[in-house]
Amino acid sequence: MERLNEKCVSPDPAYDACNICPRLCGVNRNAGQKGFCQTGAGLEVAWAGVHGGEEPCLAGTSGVGNFFFSRCNMSCVYCQNFQISQGDIARQPMSEKAFVQKALFFQEQSVRAIGLVSAGHQAPALCRALKAAKNAGLNIPVIYNTNAYETVETLKSLTGLVDIYLPDIRYSCDDAAVKYSNAPGYTAISRNAILEMYCQVGPVRPDPDTGLIDRGLWVRHLVLPNRLAGTWESLCFLALELSPRIGLSIMSQYNPLHRAGSFEALARTITAREYEEAVDMALSLGFENLLTQDLEGSARNAVPDFADFLKPFKGF
Ligand code: SF4
Repeated sequence: MERLNEKCVSPDPAYDACNICPRLCGVNRNAGQKGFCQTGAGLEVAWAGVHGGEEPCLAGTSGVGNFFFSRCNMSCVYCQNFQISQGDIARQPMSEKAFVQKALFFQEQSVRAIGLVSAGHQAPALCRALKAAKNAGLNIPVIYNTNAYETVETLKSLTGLVDIYLPDIRYSCDDAAVKYSNAPGYTAISRNAILEMYCQVGPVRPDPDTGLIDRGLWVRHLVLPNRLAGTWESLCFLALELSPRIGLSIMSQYNPLHRAGSFEALARTITAREYEEAVDMALSLGFENLLTQDLEGSARNAVPDFADFLKPFKGF
């Protein structure tokens, strides 16, 4: 991928007193002030390229043209993308024009979808760029990959622009969310956010011949050691308050990266028993579109290295 270094910061009133995400920092990003996410008023992307590691029903055989946005509004001690979410590796401004060109380039390469990874704290600029891309001919599905620490209002601004919501549901206990991700109120905030996503796009409807999905809600749940993810409570919420017809990935790839080694309860990978317990919970709740992972090798293969700009994902 070529370096995208065209600078463009488009003023947007939403950045004047930033309340784009639940942190409600109130800073003026148009005037150069920085809130928790340390992000300015334009798009900032760390890496854009075709990625084959998403769920097969989303990526197909041609992969997803992913934009990995710089920085994040959470601060997970175990973040596998910590180089770009909490550091500044490869961080670059991306103009609206460059975003449109790249999205259309991905489409010309016949990728199945465009993926927007951790973009919520850049939502106003992203909305404008997405509209411009669609006006310029982008017509493949758009996947919005998020930690779900989002406001309903910001998600509503994406209505009609996103085809597939791909949120995490990380915790069902706010104490754990604060301790391990610095995300106060995560449980209620993420659930309200996921409800809004479901209202916009509904459950998934896999193509009966190919199994591929063009629209709907697909949730990821990362199993943490020592039941820290609150799996049962989160899955009950999804099955009972949304629908067992949403898509669900039970993810085994937890790896004690970044600062996780400093927390005894997080300082190991998960056991086969912990993973099987989570899968059994999902099966007992009747999820119809359930994706599980191979425990062996999944942790190693999923870890990117964004210092290797040309190929950060070695396992795919
Ligand atoms: S988007 Fe960034 S600056 Fe705005 S409220 Fe969230 S963390 Fe704060």
